[in-house]
Amino acid sequence: MSAKSFSFPTQSLARWYQKFKRDLPWRKNPTPYFVWISEIMLQQTQVQTVLPYYHRFLKRFPTLKALASASEQEVLALWSGLGYYSRARNLHRAATMVQEKHKGKFPSTKGEILELPGIGAYTAGAILSIAFHQAVPILDGNVKRILSRFYLETAQSSLWELAETLVTDAQSRAIDPSDFNQALMELGALVCLPEHPQCLGCPLQNDCLSKKEGVQHLYPPKEKINKTVRQTFALFVISEGNQFLLRHRSNQERQFKNMWEFPMVSTPFAADKEKAVREFREQTGFSVEIKKSYPYFAHSITHHRLKIWPFMARFDSKNGTRKGNGFKWIPKDKIKTLSSSSILSKTLARMNDI
Ligand code: SF4
Repeated sequence: MSAKSFSFPTQSLARWYQKFKRDLPWRKNPTPYFVWISEIMLQQTQVQTVLPYYHRFLKRFPTLKALASASEQEVLALWSGLGYYSRARNLHRAATMVQEKHKGKFPSTKGEILELPGIGAYTAGAILSIAFHQAVPILDGNVKRILSRFYLETAQSSLWELAETLVTDAQSRAIDPSDFNQALMELGALVCLPEHPQCLGCPLQNDCLSKKEGVQHLYPPKEKINKTVRQTFALFVISEGNQFLLRHRSNQERQFKNMWEFPMVSTPFAADKEKAVREFREQTGFSVEIKKSYPYFAHSITHHRLKIWPFMARFDSKNGTRKGNGFKWIPKDKIKTLSSSSILSKTLARMNDI
């Protein structure tokens, strides 16, 4: 146990939780299935928003078997309006996996749970501690905020270690890990609020270092928000006979490592085909003539928003080279078998005449 954890008022927190915890439906009968559904729904979503969805979802899928037997379309329809639809797809896929691989019984080890789609360290910790009463830590935004303020700690790995030490220590004092972890989450949701922590009503106030120093608002430090980067590209689909010129990105590149793509260049003038051709020649050495232009399409990667103008082109017969470093002629029927980003498939979908 780290020296830091000794000063934590575990008993006071446990008493506070018994007195103030909210009456939430997933707390009534915390089976692994119910805890899992609630935790996935609560990701990036407020409790009040989740409540009607939770009731409707469990009315239609009261068991994991019912969820696994449904079609993905039906699951998505019940999720409609809750957003982040990959959560619903992963729930459905994970239910099918549990049904097939674990004979319908929700696994109870961290390794097995982490194999399920859509479940990371936080959700695994929530299921293992709340439903299986195992001393496994959780570190959601609420818990992170409390521990960061309480110990003036900022490193994510140290916060995980503290969360683990504390839940293990709680169990050794006969406090159920389920109650202890939920108490931390509840304190973060009701008292240790991001902007205005209610320290005078907090069971941790006598030992909290950030309160002692009056620096609650500095912990945890705000994460830098990546600003959206917008870029415009001109993309060239260049063919000769049945072959197309593709470029292979090396694994040194920042994006699309080891992927094949139609050659494209970043230029603010991509909408203007003459300027796009000139930029393409300057950046690649290839001289081309445009055969056909297409409307642009959008593509997003993390915080990058790309606008891509595709052109069908051929080499200018009078000028330039047909070879370049990283470029290769690929037969048309091989293109779809190469590893590529979805920019390539989006381009092909738009050029259904090639
Ligand atoms: S005393 Fe204040 S800052 Fe510290 S844990 Fe409690 S609410 Fe948060």
